[in-house]
This record gives sequence, structure tokens and C-alpha cells, in this order.
Amino acid sequence: SLPLVAVVGRPNVGKSTFVNRIAQADEAIVHSMRGVTRDRSYHESEWNGVKFTLVDTGGIEMGGEDDFQASIRHQAFVAAEQADAIVFLVDGKTGINADDAEVARILRKTDKPVFLVVNKLDTPGRTDEIWEFYQLGIGDPWPVSAVHGHGTGDLLDEVVVAL
Ligand code: GDP
Ligand code: MG
Repeated sequence: SLPLVAVVGRPNVGKSTFVNRIAQADEAIVHSMRGVTRDRSYHESEWNGVKFTLVDTGGIEMGGEDDFQASIRHQAFVAAEQADAIVFLVDGKTGINADDAEVARILRKTDKPVFLVVNKLDTPGRTDEIWEFYQLGIGDPWPVSAVHGHGTGDLLDEVVVAL
């Protein structure tokens, strides 16, 4: 099966927007990951000739999980266990909050490649907002705008070589 790229992050950071921008329109749903009950989260994708499956973890059902923070935590654990690369999306407009810090704490423990992606930076070149995200201890932040597409190509260039 194809390598798996998981997009994780708290609600509203732009996971679905990001995934929908990158995923091919005519996708086939092929994956069956443990604990997954909705298939709309899986998208066949390709970049620079490399095929992979992009997973929007925000769409993964938790099976009765109603604790919001436990749900985010669970998604991060599943991604760390099962993905080949992880895109950790944060919100460049709101900055870091406790949920981001919790996801970061989990992802710092994995040996998988983790890309820290600062979304909603809609004006190219105006990316001062990225600096605070070094605090998360995940390495260099990648500025993107999922809505406008800025930065997503440079990011994907690096993601696919990590697969
Ligand atoms: P999710 O909960 O992480 O899946 O986030 P969504 O993809 O649903 O996006 C949450 C909100 O952020 C929506 O109103 C999006 O339109 C908005 N959003 C997502 N990406 C961007 C972006 O690059 N720039 C701006 N300005 N808004 C964005
Ligand atoms: Mg979503």
C-alpha cells in the first residue's frame, strides 16, 4: 500500500482545507486503518511523481470519544504509530495554545519525520508569525496558506523525499 502522510492538529487550524487543496479530485479510497470508521479522510495524492495517501485525522471517528483533548491526543498517537510522515498543522493567526503544546509533546517522541506547518499565513513574505512556533520543539516551521496555496509546494517537495 502507499505511504501514509497524516495531517494532525487541533480543530480549526485548517487541516481539511490543507488536505483538500493537496488531494487529487478523483481519489480512490483504499485504506483501512484501525479505528477508522469514515473513509472521507483518506485521499490518494501524488507530488513529484511520488504517490501517497493523505489522512485528515480530524475526520477520524474516535468511537464514543467525547473528550475533545483526549481525541486530539489519540489522533496524534495514531499518526505517530501508523504514518510514514506527519504534517503537524498549527494556526499562524492565533498562535500556540495548550492543545498545540500537547500534540507537540506527543510528536516529539516519534522517530517519524514531522513537519511543523504554520497555516493561515496568507501574505507571502510576511511570515514573522512563524518564530514563536520554534517553542514547540519540532524544528523549523514551514509557513503556508492552505487557502491560497502559498508554501504548500515547497513543503510537499520535502515531505515526499522523507517517504
Ligand atoms: P480543521 O478543523 O483543522 O479541519 O480546519 P478547517 O480546514 O475546517 O478550517 C478552519 C477555518 O480556517 C475555516 O474557516 C477555513 O476557511 C480557515 N482556513 C483554513 N486555512 C486557511 C488559510 O490558509 N488562511 C485563512 N485565512 N483561513 C484558513
Ligand atoms: Mg476538518
